[in-house]
Amino acid sequence: MPELHTPTTDHTPATDHTPPALYTPESALIIVAHPDDIEYSCAGTLALWAQQGTALFYVLCTSGEAGIDDPEIDRAQAVAIREAEQRAAAEVVGAREVVFLREPDGLLQPTLALRKQLVRIIRRFRPEVVITGDPTLIWASPTFLNHPDHRAASIAALEAAWPAAGQRNLYPDLEAEDGLGLHRPRKLYCTGWVQPDANLFVDIATTLSVKATALRAHTSQTGGDPEPLLRRQAAHNATGQGMEYAECFRVTTLVDDARWQRTKGDRTAEQIVRISRPEQSTKAPSVASS
Ligand SMILES: [Zn+2]
Repeated sequence: MPELHTPTTDHTPATDHTPPALYTPESALIIVAHPDDIEYSCAGTLALWAQQGTALFYVLCTSGEAGIDDPEIDRAQAVAIREAEQRAAAEVVGAREVVFLREPDGLLQPTLALRKQLVRIIRRFRPEVVITGDPTLIWASPTFLNHPDHRAASIAALEAAWPAAGQRNLYPDLEAEDGLGLHRPRKLYCTGWVQPDANLFVDIATTLSVKATALRAHTSQTGGDPEPLLRRQAAHNATGQGMEYAECFRVTTLVDDARWQRTKGDRTAEQIVRISRPEQSTKAPSVASS
């Protein structure tokens, strides 16, 4: 993933800033296209959360095999290399599990089949937060277009997290076969190298070195030390925020605090609106909110 921001050379950290308390979820599921996407985008925040006990689960839609361009390494070998690198990076940050969907790298599409796979995973892990990229990002910088796989993974992730994972009549076979109850995450975090609509800036000064160590695990992708690039990007993200280094997100709250404390996202247990059945009443049924 190449550099996307012009480095800032006049960045001056604030000295009198009191950072807000960091929201730390009990669990987070991160859905991306390729090995190294998490490390470039949000591993600093994830490392902070892991230090506070957040259970982290990674989902890689592809195994990044197209990212290895060596005639001596075939596709299967490339998959094995990049998956091993991703597992090592996850271990650095403290993630508990890494799931590879092994969709074809470079050809990822936000299909209904992918959405269903992600619904199954969301219902299995029942995360408080789902993190993915920004599916609207195409022109990432004057010199770089966002990878189509990134957009595909992001749109599939958002569509799975809301509304599909919490809808009763969408995948009755998942409930029947897997016993996976409905789930609605508390919050969605969209991350990206360019985030003009960010509404959350996380101070990663204490974990930027962890982020760099995790990224170094992707040895097939990093030609040299990636830490200077990460520092420039994080400094750029922090501009005007009273921080030295930041990751930024667009956060959407799907479940309010009171309901989350009551349900932990379990929509199977919470019937939102009861409707009258046709055989029980001649009145037209009201519409259940979803
Ligand atoms: Zn990527």
